[in-house]
Amino acid sequence: MSLSWGVAQMAAEQARNLEDKSVAVLGCGVVGLSTARVLQRRGKSVTIYARELPPETTSNVAGALWYPTHVYDARRASPIFLERYGLACRLAHREFQSYVAPEYGVRWIETYTLGAEPLGRELAGGNELYPETRYYADARGVFGFPHVRQFTAMMIEPQTYLRALLRDFYAAGGRVVVRELKSREEVATLTERVVFNCTGLGARALFGDQGMASMRGQIEVLLPQPEIDYCYLANSLYMFPRADGLILGGTFEAENWSLDPDLNTTARIIEGNAQIARGLRR
Ligand SMILES: Cc1cc2nc3c(=O)[nH]c(=O)nc-3n(C[C@H](O)[C@H](O)[C@H](O)COP(=O)(O)OP(=O)(O)OC[C@H]3O[C@@H](n4cnc5c(N)ncnc54)[C@H](O)[C@@H]3O)c2cc1C
Repeated sequence: MSLSWGVAQMAAEQARNLEDKSVAVLGCGVVGLSTARVLQRRGKSVTIYARELPPETTSNVAGALWYPTHVYDARRASPIFLERYGLACRLAHREFQSYVAPEYGVRWIETYTLGAEPLGRELAGGNELYPETRYYADARGVFGFPHVRQFTAMMIEPQTYLRALLRDFYAAGGRVVVRELKSREEVATLTERVVFNCTGLGARALFGDQGMASMRGQIEVLLPQPEIDYCYLANSLYMFPRADGLILGGTFEAENWSLDPDLNTTARIIEGNAQIARGLRR
C-alpha cells in the first residue's frame, strides 16, 4: 500500500516512449489502480483485467499505515534495488499527500513505536519522510514501555480509498474486465500490446515468478473507537484506529500462503494488544 504510487510512477516511466494509446493493467488492488490512474494522466486509454475487485482484494485488508516495512529481504537487496526502493518510497509519500482528505480516507496521524530497548534511528522509507520525529527515554510511566519514538505518518482507510480510486478511474474513462488470466500465453492474447503486471501475489503463479515470497498478515477488527487519535507499533503488534474499526495486528509470517484466520494468532494479537493498552492507561 505504502509504495503504490511510487511503483506506479516508475512503471509508467519505463513505458514513456511506447506509442500505444491503449494499455492493459492486470490487477485491481492498490497497485493496479494507482498504475492505471498514472497512465490515464499520461493520456493512455486503460483497461484493467482482474479476478477480484475492491472490496475483495488483499489491499482491502491492509492496516493501512504509510510505513513501508517487511517489503524485501535485506540480505538479498542489491544497492540498485535499494536505490529504486528509496525512490519508490519518496514518490509514493509525495503523491499520497495529495490524497489527504476525508473523501479519500487518508489523514495524518501521530504514531508511537514502543520499545523495551532503545529504538533505532532509521524509519521505514527514509527519515526525511517523517518530520518532527521525537525520541523519549524513561517513558514507562506514560506508555508502559521505557523507549518511545513519536512520528507523524499517513493513515489510509482502504475501503474508502480504493473505492475512491476506482471511481476516479471510471470517471477518467477507464474500463474494467473481471477475468482471471491463467498463463503468460493467455496474457499475450489480450488486444493491448503493453501490459502492466499488478497482480500482487498472483504474479507468482501467473508468471512463474518463484522469487516472489509471501508475508502473511492477520488482523483483528474491534468496533470503531473514534476517540482514539493515534497509532502504536510494538514489536510485531500494532493498533490503527480506522473509521470502520479498531485494527489490531499483527503477524509477519514469511512463506505462509494461508488465507485462513488462525485462532491461536487471534488470541496472541488480542492478548498482546490488551497488555499494551493496560500499560498506556497507567
Ligand atoms: C493484514 C495486512 C496488513 C497490512 N498492512 C499494511 C500497512 O499497514 N501498510 C502497507 O503499506 N501495507 C500493508 N499491507 C500490505 C498491502 O496490503 C499489500 O502489499 C498491497 O495491498 C498489495 O497490493 P497489490 O495491488 O499489489 O495486490 P492485491 O491487493 O492482492 O491485488 C492484486 C490484484 O490482482 C488480481 N489478480 C491476481 N492474480 C490474477 C490473475 N491470475 N488474473 C487476474 N487477476 C489477478 C487480484 O484479483 C487483484 O485484483 C498489509 C497486508 C496485510 C495482509
